[in-house]
Amino acid sequence: MPRRLPNILLTGTPGVGKTTTAEQLISLSSSTPRRLKYLSINDLVKSRGCHEGYDEELQTYMVDDDKLLDEVEKEIQDGGGDGGWVIDWHSSAGFAVRWIDLVVVLRCEDTTVLYDRLKGRGYKDEKVQENMDAEIFGVCLEEAQEGWGEERCVELRSQEVDEVEGNCERVLAWVEQWIKDREAEQT
Ligand code: ADP
Repeated sequence: MPRRLPNILLTGTPGVGKTTTAEQLISLSSSTPRRLKYLSINDLVKSRGCHEGYDEELQTYMVDDDKLLDEVEKEIQDGGGDGGWVIDWHSSAGFAVRWIDLVVVLRCEDTTVLYDRLKGRGYKDEKVQENMDAEIFGVCLEEAQEGWGEERCVELRSQEVDEVEGNCERVLAWVEQWIKDREAEQT
């Protein structure tokens, strides 16, 4: 069965604004016939026990990738695989290409802005630096483009507060286009 709505992976370095953007996307779409659903992989890791404990030193859960990917697949097939999931995760590694129709990579290349956001979370210097390096080198974008190709990856700037709404509108416009393209294919 083809999906009724596209699945969107919202990715990027920690602190770029994935959760903020996802929440706004869900809220904006909730008053339209194209209601999107939020899937936080962070929450899934914790609620389904897809980890081997919390590493205090690294300030992160040690994710069990196989278990996590099984849970992601189960979750997005929920509702008969109807689609419309906005998946929030800092990586696209291991995600099957067929699960995702669009990858949105949020970027915050101004490292002073990212630094403040990560420090504000209480991350240790080493973890802040590691994430800033990942952002400077565009690790998430490269990973996404390798999997889905440039045509299915969108890079959006997420530095200023007022960029969030515009980014959500772009994604929602893309959802509409995806639906139109599918309808055209079926006629
Ligand atoms: P992520 O989910 O990518 O780790 P969050 O959505 O939790 O990032 O955002 C991290 C912090 O940055 C939050 O305090 C949030 O309010 C702020 N933030 C997110 N996006 C923006 C933006 N475009 N401009 C300014 N601040 C932002």
